[in-house]
Amino acid sequence: MSKTYISLALRRLVTERANDQCEYCRLPANLSFFPHELDHIIAEKHGGQTISENLALTCWRCNRHKGSDLGSFDLHTKEFCFLFNPRTQSWSEHFSLSHHHIEGLTPEGRTTVKLLQLNTSERIAERKRLTP
Ligand SMILES: [Zn+2]
Repeated sequence: MSKTYISLALRRLVTERANDQCEYCRLPANLSFFPHELDHIIAEKHGGQTISENLALTCWRCNRHKGSDLGSFDLHTKEFCFLFNPRTQSWSEHFSLSHHHIEGLTPEGRTTVKLLQLNTSERIAERKRLTP
């Protein structure tokens, strides 16, 4: 979403570190219709920097839904919760995948599933198509 220049070297580092997969929904870049993007985990307008520790590889859908948000309200606890941070947290501790459905296991996981809309029928259908 940002217009800050990101060098090719930094772009490559972030992409390779993520194994070419979206760091939120795990959609592989080579199977995505639209190119993956670099996301500022903490958006620039909140003071996030353009450094590898604050960048994540995301699919275009996750990036659109996330925008510059930092968090939202967890449906279970009704309390504000930050989004999952792929730099400091582990995907498998916060999410699980079963039957093409991504389940949030923690407040951060649930908040991210909801805000990034990881389980719309369109996205579940896409996962089924890619990994039958
Ligand atoms: Zn994604």
